Amino acid sequence: MNQFQYNKANESLSAVKLAAKDPNAHFLAGGTNLIDLMKMGVVIPSKLIDINHLPFSKIEKMPHALRVGALVTNSDVAENDLIKSHFPLLSLAINAGASPQLRNMATVGGNLMQRTRCPYFFDTTMPCNKRSPGSGCGALEGINRMHAIFGASEQCIAVNPSDMNVAMRALDAVVHVSGPKGERAIPIADFHRLPGNHPELDNTLQKGELITAVDLPYTPFTKNVYYLKVRDRSSYAFALTSAAVALYIENGTIKEARLAMGGVAHKPWRLTIAEEFLKGKAVSEDHFKQASQIAMQGAKAYQYNQFKLKLAPNTLVQSLKMASGIASS
Ligand code: SF4
Repeated sequence: MNQFQYNKANESLSAVKLAAKDPNAHFLAGGTNLIDLMKMGVVIPSKLIDINHLPFSKIEKMPHALRVGALVTNSDVAENDLIKSHFPLLSLAINAGASPQLRNMATVGGNLMQRTRCPYFFDTTMPCNKRSPGSGCGALEGINRMHAIFGASEQCIAVNPSDMNVAMRALDAVVHVSGPKGERAIPIADFHRLPGNHPELDNTLQKGELITAVDLPYTPFTKNVYYLKVRDRSSYAFALTSAAVALYIENGTIKEARLAMGGVAHKPWRLTIAEEFLKGKAVSEDHFKQASQIAMQGAKAYQYNQFKLKLAPNTLVQSLKMASGIASS
């Protein structure tokens, strides 16, 4: 058993100061990921800073966006009436993740920070550049069935496991953080990282920075949305591939599209070129197939995840068909 210090934070500034001073301090919210990592010896904190009593548990209507506090649970986000009416895509994505028990505990901030489920990351007897920089990547020549087809590096081919993050990427969420140097807002596109030469870094947070809220800017995507998650079993499994689709359709023409995929990259993967292709096109399966081929440009598979080169575009086409209403479940 590794010893650690437990600190209950009563206000955010002291929590941030405490975290900034200690490189092995971790914030504790729902604990659904961190406690597992501690039990397996993947994360060995010197200090846990319990942030559950900080005032970040509200969903508030702002003039430009809906503000979701970092401590709102995934269940409360998915079932919130404002979320369901303004951002149904987010509700669908969250309900596709984990189990009801986990969603009742897991928080928005924790979900944004969720670590990869690469099995080599969890097995402390195996090489893993993310867990132990410089030790190598067990997955590169190993069992890489769940791994990335976009944006990987020779250092790491892991994927971000979150469903919520994929929908947030499609919705252009903005992450608010408080840190030793003050507060800042990070567009979600800049929040998660590609692995590059530093796969140990999942995101662009600086030491001591604490997520306080996420803004969801209002969009016209309240009707034609879908989140399709393809996985090995129908519940409580991570995505092989997933697709978050939001369409704004008028008289059968796509005025605007937002597309993001999960299970394919180290960060939720936005498909901007395919979005541009769909703009102004009629709703049709043919256009959706063309968009999915465009979306796959640059994809690269490894020994055991070749199937994703077919599964990913098929996931996107089916999600587009569901969102537009030309297919039903
Ligand atoms: Fe570690 Fe990334 Fe390689 Fe998995 S893919 S073993 S997380 S370095």
